[in-house]
Amino acid sequence: MGRKQKLRQERKIKNNKNSTPPAVVTTASEATVEATSEGTLSIAEILVEIDSVFPKSDEYVQATDAQIINGNEDYKLDNNERYALFKQGATEHGCVHSMNFMGAGYLNPTSKHLAHPWFLEGAIRGHYGCIMSLIGEFYLDHAEPNRNADTLYGYWGKIATNADTRLSPKVAPNVLKHRLGRICIICSKTDTKTFTLKQCEGCSVYCYCSEGCQTIHWKDHNHRGECKQLRILIKYHKPYAKAIRDAAIRGDIHPALEKLQYKLGLTRPLEDYQEIDNTYDAKLINPKDYFVARDDGTVWVGSIPSTACVSRK
Ligand SMILES: [Zn+2]
Ligand SMILES: [Zn+2]
Repeated sequence: MGRKQKLRQERKIKNNKNSTPPAVVTTASEATVEATSEGTLSIAEILVEIDSVFPKSDEYVQATDAQIINGNEDYKLDNNERYALFKQGATEHGCVHSMNFMGAGYLNPTSKHLAHPWFLEGAIRGHYGCIMSLIGEFYLDHAEPNRNADTLYGYWGKIATNADTRLSPKVAPNVLKHRLGRICIICSKTDTKTFTLKQCEGCSVYCYCSEGCQTIHWKDHNHRGECKQLRILIKYHKPYAKAIRDAAIRGDIHPALEKLQYKLGLTRPLEDYQEIDNTYDAKLINPKDYFVARDDGTVWVGSIPSTACVSRK
């Protein structure tokens, strides 16, 4: 099967009514990134090329096994079977391709918050499709008044930009810098000859004119959680990012990865977030409230509970 065929968007699969989420609509990179041409390759194709260094679990291979019927990809397994395989590949074998598909499977408006931990799992291992999905689906331009995520956009954006110059035009962290500028994030006051805005000491990204504006941002706009998650990433991911990625490419787990998963809250037990894990009741919650972080910087929804880690080699 050619690359183009593989990349073709799968048909949308309707969310069925049982508790198993829909298995996978499309690859995350395609869902997020416009397939505009850069030379001969689209961004989605570039991502597939960069991420092809990661090993594919047997489960992933089985779940994506398809034949072309009338020009459409027809999977040999049904959605529930594919979902189970992706989950197994992701949780038992650390398969980043499976994580990417897990995330993509939840990318509909009512369950999107459940996609976040899977893209984050892939992103911390250095899977660029997952990184671009984090940026595009959760952090970029989701900075609605109460849900700032500009610092996380900046963190992952920088990593994506450094990965491949072909991705830079799609990320362009400088745009962010320009967008934020020297302006109070709450009331838009700027520096004057006699007055200088203060920066957040945690992230050095946002500026404030006063303690009052900082408090509003910290509490009402959840910068507390965002800023803390950024610091977790800077302390527990940044120094080890290359080593974690290299290990994942070898099919190993770097010791720093498990600590990072714990610090980010990805390994929290399911009971912790049960009430927002059920997509049936999604109408009772706004998934966007769970895109960024809790007050302590940990994720709202986990991915692989710590008990599952025991069975991993
Ligand atoms: Zn202000
Ligand atoms: Zn901050």
